[in-house]
Amino acid sequence: MTFQQVYGYEPTVRYSAPGRVNLIGEHTDYNDGYVLPFAIDRRTVASIAQRDDRVLRVASAFDPSSVVELPLDELSPDRMDGWSAYVFGIAWALREHAGADLSDKHGFDVFIESDVPVGAGLSSSAAIECGVALAFNDLWELGLDRKTLARVGQYSENHAVGAPTGIMDQSASLLGEQDAVVFLDCRTLDTAVVDLALEANGLEVLVVDTRVEHAHATGGYKARRDSCEHGAAVMGVEALRDLSVEDLPRAAELLDDETFRRVRHVVTEDQRVLDTVRTLREDGPRAIGDLLVASHESMRDDFEISVPELDLAVSTAMEHGAVGARMTGGGFGGAAIALVDREARGAIAEAVTSAFAAAGYREPTVFTVHAAQGARRD
Ligand code: ADP
Ligand code: MG
Repeated sequence: MTFQQVYGYEPTVRYSAPGRVNLIGEHTDYNDGYVLPFAIDRRTVASIAQRDDRVLRVASAFDPSSVVELPLDELSPDRMDGWSAYVFGIAWALREHAGADLSDKHGFDVFIESDVPVGAGLSSSAAIECGVALAFNDLWELGLDRKTLARVGQYSENHAVGAPTGIMDQSASLLGEQDAVVFLDCRTLDTAVVDLALEANGLEVLVVDTRVEHAHATGGYKARRDSCEHGAAVMGVEALRDLSVEDLPRAAELLDDETFRRVRHVVTEDQRVLDTVRTLREDGPRAIGDLLVASHESMRDDFEISVPELDLAVSTAMEHGAVGARMTGGGFGGAAIALVDREARGAIAEAVTSAFAAAGYREPTVFTVHAAQGARRD
């Protein structure tokens, strides 16, 4: 299925944006903390042609039977549902959140294709949002910068789609660079691109998608957020970001055991992100393995968001010589990553697949990702 097959003529431009993997910094975003994602070499492509009228039409290879349309004058969250909200929501958020004047703009025909796996924790949602945001910003000549577009993507996901997510995914998808990570301070929204240098070090990142659905993710995610808020309130800070590891003994005295362990994860995870950035800059990627493993253990034992499949992926990768490994994403399923020597990649992938079979788990999908350039006009 192509733009031509859906609309009967050729598109005039193509924009694309990548999914992302979070190297380290999990459940720190809504605590005003630090994250360290990178854009991956899996992309969502938006093929576009301008229309003469003020109608937006969208179609996706994902759902080729339906073309959905909405006049620009009727943009509003209650006029959007299903996957098309990821596209219409961007136009709406450009107006509502970024103050863009769309009153004299023309519409577009848009066709979406993607090789970012959906729902695997690699943020196919940010890929679609950011590709479309960059395209509309360019084609409507709005002049917004990429950080603003990231906020537009988040605003759309929060209010048009209705998913209460942070700004990490959009920042990675818009600001990512080849063989580099995006260091993001979720309070100030300051970002810095940090060299990952995997290529020069003969390393690769292996993704193990456990294909375990985030079945209880919604309830579990909310419970974790509530614990963090409660912990911050008892400790008298605005967000857990304001605590450091030196505050943990006092936290242990003031908090119940469960809340304390939730807080300890976030506080130590923030420190691990800072340590990872420093280590990457000073000693290179081979030196970050212990930090990745410590992050996994903290999520497994303190934050309690891992599942046996993720633990098995991590322990098997480590037993077979990975430099480091951890679950990535929100938890309760989804994917793990392993930092591996390029030559060891095949053996580690096989070992993980065999271990899953031996344990009676569903066969995982294992593939390599590279840190890639963010959203662009192709
Ligand atoms: P993730 O971001 O982890 O892949 P989400 O649930 O956040 O998972 O986003 C997935 C949703 O994004 C899909 O259910 C769909 O609505 C939308 N989406 C992603 N990619 C596409 C695509 N290529 N075409 C249409 N919709 C898409
Ligand atoms: Mg998503």
